[in-house]
Amino acid sequence: MNHLEQLVSEWYEFQGYFVRRNVHVGKRLNGGWECELDVIAFNPSKKHLVHIEPSMDANSWAKREERYAKKFEAGRKYIPELFDGIDIPKHIEQIALFGLGSKTNNSMLAGGHVWLASDLLLQITKTLKKLRVEKAAVSEQFPLLRTIQFVCQHEGILFKDKSLKNSNRKVNFMNNDNGKTCSICGEWQKSDEYAYGNRINRSYCKKCNKEERRIYAKEGVEAARVYRENQRAKWKNS
Ligand SMILES: [Zn+2]
Repeated sequence: MNHLEQLVSEWYEFQGYFVRRNVHVGKRLNGGWECELDVIAFNPSKKHLVHIEPSMDANSWAKREERYAKKFEAGRKYIPELFDGIDIPKHIEQIALFGLGSKTNNSMLAGGHVWLASDLLLQITKTLKKLRVEKAAVSEQFPLLRTIQFVCQHEGILFKDKSLKNSNRKVNFMNNDNGKTCSICGEWQKSDEYAYGNRINRSYCKKCNKEERRIYAKEGVEAARVYRENQRAKWKNS
């Protein structure tokens, strides 16, 4: 059982389909089977029958066409017998699901639709991101979907949070080759000159900060402002 197979099976079952996996079909007289169908899903109320063949192969499309032609043909031939006595639709939707590659120019394969893992994940996340874990947790019988639900819920922290960008910027800033101009003395200094008092990327260098603090302590806030402005005037207007 591969991972994509598990994922797509969970997804269909979660949506109310009856799912069968790894079904051997076409018993041979001398033993063995003609083919194994990976995932078959049926939704009686929607009258929707799907046959999915997931693969992590990195084959050419020509090779895939050849392999899938056999699988899909076996599906069309044997799936109806599996539902003997049940009123199933004539049309079986067949899906080739790939973990690798892109599908530009290949939206169909051997008469079936081509899905990439990203197509499947997009469908899943569209639904799961609307369900809050605390109110509508995905059942534990679907461990992969449940994991995706948690990931959706923490998407902000995981993928696009500002603090992530900031911490990248901090890392770049702390790189030894980096530095900047002090906003008081106007001299270019390495980044560690701006890291003090539990913070990094301050705007004054250590030396200027010390002097500014000293004046502030001794003569007050106005004197500190005058000090900063006088220092800046030395290099900013020249
Ligand atoms: Zn300085």
